[in-house]
Amino acid sequence: MADFDLSRLVRPNVARMAPYSSARSEFAQGDGGVAAEVMLDANENPFDTGYHRYPDPLQHQLKQRILTTRALPALTEAHLFLGNGSDEAIDLLLRAFCEPGRGAIVIQPPTYGMYEVSANLQDAPIVRVPLGADLQPDYAALRAAAGPDTRLVFFCSPNNPTGNLLEPEAIAAFARSYHGLVIVDEAYIDFALAVRPDASLLPRLTELPNLVILQTFSKALGQAGIRMGMAWASPAVIAVLNKIKPPYNLSQVAQQAALNALDYSELTTQLVRILVAQREALRQTLGELPFVDHVFPSDANFLLVRFDDAAAVFSHLRAQGIVVRDRSKQPGCAGCLRLTVGTPDENARLIAALAEFTPAA
Ligand SMILES: *Cc1c(COP(=O)(O)O)cnc(C)c1O
Repeated sequence: MADFDLSRLVRPNVARMAPYSSARSEFAQGDGGVAAEVMLDANENPFDTGYHRYPDPLQHQLKQRILTTRALPALTEAHLFLGNGSDEAIDLLLRAFCEPGRGAIVIQPPTYGMYEVSANLQDAPIVRVPLGADLQPDYAALRAAAGPDTRLVFFCSPNNPTGNLLEPEAIAAFARSYHGLVIVDEAYIDFALAVRPDASLLPRLTELPNLVILQTFSKALGQAGIRMGMAWASPAVIAVLNKIKPPYNLSQVAQQAALNALDYSELTTQLVRILVAQREALRQTLGELPFVDHVFPSDANFLLVRFDDAAAVFSHLRAQGIVVRDRSKQPGCAGCLRLTVGTPDENARLIAALAEFTPAA
């Protein structure tokens, strides 16, 4: 273990500041024994509309329910932060640990765009260490780049937009040697876990005090509309995020919807299996098209595809009402479009549309 010392990573103003405190949380922490019965503290409308009270700021019930789905007895509520999407967790990590103009992040392009957006908002320098030719991290280059002013190193596994899982053991080994926080964005991990039970770093969390794992309700769980993201980390790191988050960051509606979604875990498992099978079928079919140059192997619910003429394919699909993601400007992704795996019908429509594509002579 490198000399990981959280107190030296937290921005001094964040360490000094007092968080917002509600009368209700002060009451709960105060002289016990008396139940809070008459709530005249928060200027809510007292008449019951179903939503007239502020929601639980620390989402106790939902966190307990999420913990039962993970079945890792070492993990507690103190290891879990819930945000308005994982994007909120990314933003708060930058704000908590990166001094504007100084505290840098390391990203590994091609990768998810929000790390860079949040870093730019915070005015945090960005150090880029491209993935290697095998699309795995270049650890020698990472170690060289991860100097004392770097605070956060982002790994995205499976990586967006390339789709491949990053070897979890190698990330853990890097975390042991790094002084800052190692963020592993596992937004697509459920698709990898369907094939590889050891894909996630979550079981390693309690061994690695500088590990932060991001997961989300937006992908396999099918709840992008409710905005619900998870950050798993040591209780000390989670306490920092809780300290600076907006007090009521998750609405009661979102918390309730997330609880409901977790009641359908069997269905989720089935849908993930269907999507993985559809992905592999799509990969096969796409690979046989004469104007497809390469289909990247994927551990997620999308395929990165390199076309001879990506711009022409993109506009052909758009003319048929099919929207895909143009990633051709991303480093190492020249000529590439990212195709999300849809329902079987949608995938059939995609293939039918591509079958009608005629490359320019
Ligand atoms: C989709 C995605 C997310 C999800 O973000 P939410 O804010 O939770 O919807 C996070 N990371 C990556 C890499 C993604 O592709």
